[in-house]
Amino acid sequence: MTNPNTFEGRPEKMARWDARYIGLAHHIAQWSKDPRAKVGAVLVNQAQARIVATGFNGFPSNVEDSAERLENKARKLQMILHAEQNALLHAGHDARGCDAYVVGKPVCNVCATLLIQSGVRRVVAAAPREGTSSYWDGVGLLAIEMLREANVEFAPITEAQMQVLGLDAVEARRSLDPFAAHQAEFDFGGAPPAGEEG
Ligand SMILES: [Zn+2]
Repeated sequence: MTNPNTFEGRPEKMARWDARYIGLAHHIAQWSKDPRAKVGAVLVNQAQARIVATGFNGFPSNVEDSAERLENKARKLQMILHAEQNALLHAGHDARGCDAYVVGKPVCNVCATLLIQSGVRRVVAAAPREGTSSYWDGVGLLAIEMLREANVEFAPITEAQMQVLGLDAVEARRSLDPFAAHQAEFDFGGAPPAGEEG
């Protein structure tokens, strides 16, 4: 007997549920206290039509997420768990076979290693940009390289999918290109901006 929850041969059904889970991840992202990057992740067992776990970026439990710490970019990055990491930790072994939906930032290299090792089979997230000097685009491209090599499907979120959710163009653009407004802040590992060399 075939599983009624399968999307095989039913791309419209998959697109409809993808949009719902992308919307849920976007909603959960808003719970983050990070003033600069709000990221949400949802792990779904499609065969069981079950949301296994959710996560957003934030400090570990009982570690004070004060404005002072959150405003200190270098310190924050040393303390914060990414949305995918929180969702994977909540899911435990149940992450195996799940699809991961990530909204707010492309998946980074570290999260890609954890998603692969947890047995996630498909990742739906914003695609990093090619040809920029951004640190996060760089690690995002490395993440996709690793996902592909490990046979984890990567499905980039499209602008159309964001708009279907009722997000306006600005909000959709920001979710797809979350670094645009803070390029300089995030590029601590990249080349200096043009004109600032020397
Ligand atoms: Zn990450």
